[in-house]
Amino acid sequence: MAKKRKSRKAGPPPKKAKKLETAFDCPFCNHRGSVECSIDLKLRIAEASCAVCKEAYTTQADALTEPVDVYSEWIDACERVNEGVDVRRSRGEEEDADDADDDF
Ligand SMILES: [Zn+2]
Repeated sequence: MAKKRKSRKAGPPPKKAKKLETAFDCPFCNHRGSVECSIDLKLRIAEASCAVCKEAYTTQADALTEPVDVYSEWIDACERVNEGVDVRRSRGEEEDADDADDDF
């Protein structure tokens, strides 16, 4: 069990061509990369849908909307639904106030 070789990797691997990320993990079936986002600028509609469980989310889009925006909005909507189901009986549980002061 002698470690002779010291593999030293300097920094993260170089990124390949910039490609817009359009495949995401599904919040429903947790399948990796099964969610694809399509944006229709004519109809101003963006849709994210899972190729595996067929769940889909549609939202409004504009010229600045990117696939990741659609996806994160979907996640947002999912979390909101979960919150509605989850009975929140925490009163005065405001201890985790994030006082993140950004000092650059
Ligand atoms: Zn799915």
